[in-house]
Amino acid sequence: MLFYRPLGHISALTFDLDDTLYDNRPVILRTEQESLAFVQNYHPALKGLQNADFQRMRQALRDSDPEIYHDVTEWRRRAVERTMLDAGLSGHEAKAGADAAMENFASWRSRIDVPEQTHETLRQLAKKWPLVAITNGNARPELCGLDGYFDFVLRAGPDGRSKPFEDMYHLAARRLNLPLNEILHVGDDLTTDVAGAIRCGMQACWIKPENTDLMLALDGRLLPHVEISRLASLSALI
Ligand SMILES: [Mg+2]
Repeated sequence: MLFYRPLGHISALTFDLDDTLYDNRPVILRTEQESLAFVQNYHPALKGLQNADFQRMRQALRDSDPEIYHDVTEWRRRAVERTMLDAGLSGHEAKAGADAAMENFASWRSRIDVPEQTHETLRQLAKKWPLVAITNGNARPELCGLDGYFDFVLRAGPDGRSKPFEDMYHLAARRLNLPLNEILHVGDDLTTDVAGAIRCGMQACWIKPENTDLMLALDGRLLPHVEISRLASLSALI
């Protein structure tokens, strides 16, 4: 555990999910493959669809609605719906197809291997502090056995703009009924997690991704209070 700023009193912890509590890379790779296959097989008119087509559609949606990126689930749903409309499906078919594709996406998205170490660490921490999850993504903790540790889960879109915007950090403090400076946010991303939390007055713990170095990181603008390499190191704070 490396200290860059003096840690103050801690009354609650908030956690990023993806790549903080588990390795999200294999999950996303598999989910993207399965989602594409699902849409290709949904209707003969979609057989030739490729990921690049889908990415172009996502970009076009963002160009016309620049705020859509805050809600990754709705962004994806609309991209599927528009893709189906463009392929000649009716409005009704495209809506039903997009809903079905999102169900499929959610089920693959939540097949996450959560390490036993993560369970053990969260179990210990939850005995001492209220824990909250704050995610920009669309993983569902209740589908991968992680929901039991958190008082509540905030997700970008329904609960405000995505991190590093302050919306969800402020909402977490309000719901916990705690001042921001008594909350330690834990995450792997130097911009969304560390800079976002520090700028709004929280304390920040950076969980360092493999083969990275804070002093060499191009996105390192603000020092976290603490740096750790493994989630289990947080037990030292108890
Ligand atoms: Mg993350």
